[in-house]
Amino acid sequence: MTITFPHMGRIYIPVKALFDDLGVPVVVPPPVSKRTLEIGTRISPEMACLPMKINLGNYIESMERGADTIVLTGSCGPCRFGYYGIVEQEILRDQGYEMDVVILDAPGRDPRPLLKQIQRISGSSPWTKIIRAFLNASKIVERVDELADILLRKRPRELKRGESDELQSRFEREVLKCRGSKEMLDFIAVFKEKADSIPERRDASPLRIGLVGEIYTLIEPYVNLNIENKLGSLGVEVHRGITAADWVKTHLSFDLKFKRERKLKLKKCGNYLDLCIGGHAWETIASTVHYADTGLDGVIQILPFGCMPEIVAESILPAISRERGFPVMTLTVDELTGEAGYMTRLEAFVDLLSQKKGKEYEQA
Ligand code: SF4
Repeated sequence: MTITFPHMGRIYIPVKALFDDLGVPVVVPPPVSKRTLEIGTRISPEMACLPMKINLGNYIESMERGADTIVLTGSCGPCRFGYYGIVEQEILRDQGYEMDVVILDAPGRDPRPLLKQIQRISGSSPWTKIIRAFLNASKIVERVDELADILLRKRPRELKRGESDELQSRFEREVLKCRGSKEMLDFIAVFKEKADSIPERRDASPLRIGLVGEIYTLIEPYVNLNIENKLGSLGVEVHRGITAADWVKTHLSFDLKFKRERKLKLKKCGNYLDLCIGGHAWETIASTVHYADTGLDGVIQILPFGCMPEIVAESILPAISRERGFPVMTLTVDELTGEAGYMTRLEAFVDLLSQKKGKEYEQA
């Protein structure tokens, strides 16, 4: 059994560590590229969600490198994510790809099916080893997110332009050479120190923009055309409405403090949206209200074309923007999104926020 999994931002780092710790061979898919998307688009129904097309491309590229078993998380709920695993399996079979698919569905009242699946992908490891490997992997998710947060803060303040991007690229190039969670955690700690010591300009007072929207589009840099780095290079401090660590804590952990805080945050939706409509639309609205109330300069919502929950959120955002005088922009991405037009919109939005902030200073 050689395992692979779909890309979603930097989630490949803890997943590789997890299987290294369990002693199970794993193929990390090559970074998402034009080829990945072309493969996925060719074999998917036209109206399938963009993340699903990319996932299919990941599987086939991993299969070319020797993987024979796909592991992915399942879901339930109103949006199409709940069908991903099954639909992907059917598409691969129709196309003649014989791969085992293991879907890790969140445990309902009966955790036994999930435990059985976990045991299946863990070789013959004892439960103590499995639990330790999962705990270490979730630690890595958090540390990787902390490193990303440091770089988001540094980018608009760095003294030498491009230093944060350079450090991030070096990290991503080298992290896969690590084997197992211990090596990875040490490696991340070294890079966190390096990131912390990037010299800052003293006079920097960057704009602060929140990123909200569909989680895959937010987390996967190929899909969002590396929006975090682009905004950073425009002098913006980026705040992320949802991160990989949030996702893990929401769906796979028993972190009660986080769950309580999440509940409180969702309450901020108030009358705008008071139920889960799938995906992360609820978080999109809650984060936008939160960012407006905590004095950020604006919010950018990103969604893949045709994403039902985020389309509903998009229709609510103008009301929040109007009532709180808070600038919001929506970016929809699909396989045809061009970089030039995307960049122009980002620059125009940042320009608008700078002018608004300038006026506010003048009036103060
Ligand atoms: S959240 Fe949107 S993109 Fe993701 S599966 Fe649901 S509909 Fe598709």
